[in-house]
Amino acid sequence: MMKIDVLTLFPDMMDAVMGESIIGRAREKGILDINFINIRDYTENKHGNVDDSPYGGGRGMVMAVQPILSAYKAVCGAEKPFTVYMSPQGKVFNQDIAKQLLEKRHIVILCGHYEGVDERVIEEIVDMELSVGDYVLTGGEIPAMAVIDCVCRMEKGVLPDEEAFTEESHFNGLLEYPQYTRPEEILGKRVPEVLLSGHHKNIALWRRKQAVFRTWKKRPDMLKHAPLTDGDKKYLLKYKGKRRSNVKFIDE
Ligand code: SAM
Repeated sequence: MMKIDVLTLFPDMMDAVMGESIIGRAREKGILDINFINIRDYTENKHGNVDDSPYGGGRGMVMAVQPILSAYKAVCGAEKPFTVYMSPQGKVFNQDIAKQLLEKRHIVILCGHYEGVDERVIEEIVDMELSVGDYVLTGGEIPAMAVIDCVCRMEKGVLPDEEAFTEESHFNGLLEYPQYTRPEEILGKRVPEVLLSGHHKNIALWRRKQAVFRTWKKRPDMLKHAPLTDGDKKYLLKYKGKRRSNVKFIDE
């Protein structure tokens, strides 16, 4: 079972969000063991403080070492858990990092707040700093929930079958093909005929072409690393020299 312990100042907020929907149900079924630990419960400060002003002066407050380290020690078992600090200074999170995290069976995620955490706690316990993008949020809670959701939906038993995530955008280096549901026609637009044909091979081929096309159109940077087949490369030649902004899908 995947075990994730989150060290945070806002456990109730996180527990509420992660108690809903697919992740919430997987937690109820015991497929995921996710715990939100309130760092404040571990402070030895007589006023209950968990932060202090920065040495050297400056704005804001810094989360102190002692409460974080005590909370961390309380969740560590015999083996050191893989420890992540959510930080705008970290590696930018992506599906490949999520796959690596899935291999670690016990993860601790530290969420900062205010101006961040005392550097010495990062040096002492953190194995990886992870960012959700090049912008700054108020705290690590929302980034941590994005990471937990992404990693946990790949855990066996959380989604009904593996195809639910292996066929999605980013899993195999491409964006996903377009999706449609009932009715067959709405807003004067019909569902592409091939999807109504019941011909599985043609559907798979059409979807693959769409995935390659969409990646070329929306995220050409991803094509450099995408595992393209010879068929994909041949298909992409149809778009050579064309302007991305006005080109439409070519189904030949
Ligand atoms: N003073 C820090 C800096 O400039 O690097 C930013 C602190 S930020 C206001 C407070 C906390 O939010 C951080 O400690 C981190 O845990 C979290 N955080 C903010 N932006 C983030 C991002 N892009 N990715 C991951 N965590 C982030």
